Amino acid sequence: MIYAIISDVHANFDALSAVLDDVPACATILHLGDLVGYGPQPNEVVAALTRAVGVMGNHDAAALGLLDVYRFNDAARASAEWTRAILDEPAKAYLAAQPLVRTFEEDGISITLAHGSPYEPEDFHYIFHAEDAARAFGSLDSDIIFVGHSHLPQAFEAGADRRNITMRRHGLRGSADELSLERETRYIVNVGSVGQPRDGDPFASYALLDTASRCIRWRRVPYDVGSAQDKIIRAGLPSRNAERLALGG
Ligand code: ZN
Repeated sequence: MIYAIISDVHANFDALSAVLDDVPACATILHLGDLVGYGPQPNEVVAALTRAVGVMGNHDAAALGLLDVYRFNDAARASAEWTRAILDEPAKAYLAAQPLVRTFEEDGISITLAHGSPYEPEDFHYIFHAEDAARAFGSLDSDIIFVGHSHLPQAFEAGADRRNITMRRHGLRGSADELSLERETRYIVNVGSVGQPRDGDPFASYALLDTASRCIRWRRVPYDVGSAQDKIIRAGLPSRNAERLALGG
């Protein structure tokens, strides 16, 4: 089975369209939340993904009024309020139906989807360091935990004893961006962000999982950043939301 795993689209329909064009026709699309927030086209993004299985992100929860935005910075809070006002009923219903964590099995590989860490998922902890990864590995037994939230494409690996956790950056253009899944190893895989990359590369990021050949591949996809920026400005969203798209940060 081939899965295309996308995350943090953030209402950037230009980036999502380019990614959907890049996804192989045989792939099943999974998403890791934050479909909305920051960007100008939340309804279009949700409508394009209503057949995809996914989880709820903190920006989705904020747009639904399920999460207090006091911890958001000014641009994120203003974006959440804008999004809440513009979301249509089908988009609200789809987002509200997404769980915080999903786990399933394919070709003998147990797979979990979560937006932030699956440890206390309602708190959307980031996984930046080995200690964060250890808590996530300790919260369930899945072979692969797919996450988004930090917008940084990378993978943490741990042996069956959860010791010796290592982290590697992935999804860097022009570098080896494949990961072969070993049988006695567990993984936390961050697929990066479709709609607002933060690793210094403005290209949209996502990952492909082939459960038969036990391989993960990160993909970077160019898209019309200028078009997305124009829509952000015209919508009256914070200009910072537009500027950062060109920087990948
Ligand atoms: Zn996000």
